Order: sequence, then structure tokens, then C-alpha cells
Amino acid sequence: MIKQVGDTPILPLHRASCHCGAVVLELTLPDGLVSPRRCDCSLCRRKGAIVASVPLAGLRVVQGAELLTLYQFNTRTARHYFCSRCGIHTHHQRRSSPDQYGFNVGCLDGVNPFDLGEVPTSDGVNHPADR
Ligand SMILES: [Zn+2]
Repeated sequence: MIKQVGDTPILPLHRASCHCGAVVLELTLPDGLVSPRRCDCSLCRRKGAIVASVPLAGLRVVQGAELLTLYQFNTRTARHYFCSRCGIHTHHQRRSSPDQYGFNVGCLDGVNPFDLGEVPTSDGVNHPADR
């Protein structure tokens, strides 16, 4: 588990925001960053973000819920949310684990995802749910 990224400790209750600041999330991360990864599916290869995992109950939209736009594609199972003002993907409800959100590590307050170094890449082309 990752409790610190660069100089920034991952707090048990860590805030995250989109680029324009309209959307603010509060993430419950008692174990720090869990399973940070990239994904090469058709959406993530365009987005390029590193995402980590949180149970559904561990993510609260504290501001800007009305600006979040839902995007769905393919099987329309996963629910991808992005800020309609600045276009930044903040989180998505997973297709592979619908009891989890994946959230954009780059949105965490004070965290530079490049400080994580290499992270694994999920095989989103051959999605686990398709095997
Ligand atoms: Zn925004």
C-alpha cells in the first residue's frame, strides 16, 4: 500500500478536485493508494490517467455534483464521470468491480502521479469481464 507520494502523505480522508475546482471529492483512504494502475482500453488510452481503487462508500462528491457528466460506452456498464466545465475525468464506477470506484490519482490534493514511477497497466483491450 502507498501512504505517501513524493512529499505528500495520503490522508485517511483525502480531497480531490477537477482542474477548474468545481468538482470536489472526499475520498476515504485508510490504506492509502490501493492498486494504482493505468489501463489501455479505448477510453483510458486517450485519457492517460493513473487510477486507484476505493469502495463505493469511500467516495463522496462534496461539491459540483451538478457539473459531473456521465459517459458510458460499449456494454454501458462502467459509469465514467467527468467535469462538464474543464473536462477532467474524476472517477468511474468499474465494470470489472462494480462495488468500486476508480479515481484519478492526479486529482488528489498535492499529489503528482509522476512521483509514483512505473505502475502496472490493466489489460483493458481484453477486458476481464469479456474473458
Ligand atoms: Zn472542472
